[in-house]
Amino acid sequence: MIFRLPLVLAVSLLFCFRARAADHLSNPLADSPNWKALAKFQKTITHDEFEQLLRRVYCPHGISEEFIRVDPDAACILLDRDAQSWFTLRFATAGRTRQAPPLGWRAAHALPRRKKAGLLSGLKIALDPGHIGGAWAKMEERWFKSGDAAPVEEGEMTLKVAKLLAEKLRELGARVSFVRAKTEPVTPFRPDDFREAARAMLKASGTENPPEEFKAPDDPLKEQTVRWQSEILFYRTSEIRERARRVNSKLRPDLVLCLHFNAEAWGDERNPTLTDVNHLHLLVNGSYSSSEIEFDDERFEMLQRLLSRSYDEEIQIADAAAVAMAKKTGLPPYQYTTDNATKVGTSGYVYSRNLVATRLYRCPVVYFEPYVMNSSDVFARIQAGDYEGMRAINGVERPSIYREYADGVVDGLVEYYKTNR
Ligand SMILES: [Zn+2]
Repeated sequence: MIFRLPLVLAVSLLFCFRARAADHLSNPLADSPNWKALAKFQKTITHDEFEQLLRRVYCPHGISEEFIRVDPDAACILLDRDAQSWFTLRFATAGRTRQAPPLGWRAAHALPRRKKAGLLSGLKIALDPGHIGGAWAKMEERWFKSGDAAPVEEGEMTLKVAKLLAEKLRELGARVSFVRAKTEPVTPFRPDDFREAARAMLKASGTENPPEEFKAPDDPLKEQTVRWQSEILFYRTSEIRERARRVNSKLRPDLVLCLHFNAEAWGDERNPTLTDVNHLHLLVNGSYSSSEIEFDDERFEMLQRLLSRSYDEEIQIADAAAVAMAKKTGLPPYQYTTDNATKVGTSGYVYSRNLVATRLYRCPVVYFEPYVMNSSDVFARIQAGDYEGMRAINGVERPSIYREYADGVVDGLVEYYKTNR
């Protein structure tokens, strides 16, 4: 399930956070862009490849020449809007002068030849079970409970899938690491560390003297309280940024799989709405809005992704995984009704969207969103827990939802690496 942008944060984004005098950053915890890091991508991409990725994947809604201008020989990228300084990225001419982009990860075709150790031998996969779960599930708004049934907690469920998945991937020879391995935050910070930042954000959005606390989860004014904003800065902004640091500097995988379960709005967490709607979709990074491109950090991170050519690899893995998961689950594709996501690839299940995790992890990232947790069918399967073999659920013989999820992901990876390694 994906975080929606809270109202106050959306408003406050109109006011920029400034780390250095000249930086226009998207949030108080964002890193200043290290523009020098783009130098290594000189002459690694042709004009046509750059144009294609920019206009089809990353900025399908258009890109203003105030920020990125594409000339025949080079792309000019705005560094500093006040000083009007620009970075010139020279294109490769097809063939001769082209240099390989320097990467910290390996595509399927660059892996050492397959040994007896298994189809995925040597492949470094990091599993990122979405959310934190445990004692934090209610704060994250990833918890609901219907009557006497066991509570549904996405952060626990994603970890369960990750553990089953790790076992299967290791049997195939993969080197598997966990971005989060328990129901505890990866970030060392806690909500109280962000009270000042929360106050500043609320002030920037026009709330002069925000209330400190809210009474209950259904308090209509909770988004304007210091507590709610500081909790979001903790479990979302700070947590995902810490996970990115871990992925980029410690784990350094060839591929990250972000594991989530989806949901439809459930209303009251203690009297949730159950629905018949159920669906599946997968996400890769892309589809930036023009206001996101205006932020120096997001523009830089977008270019870093584009130039590292993660898309070429992740879209193929996502398509293969989507086909395999659709076959295992029988779920129809989710259809976005908003323009923050753009359908990409060939399966009909994959969208590009600018999520923090898919943007910050510096390698191919595939983000899974199967199953609507509050659909009657999925809810019954969650209540049945994890088990081996098949069981009748609502009159249909089914495997455990966790094993079905893990098996679908494995089938997709096997299909992709069998063909492309
Ligand atoms: Zn989620």
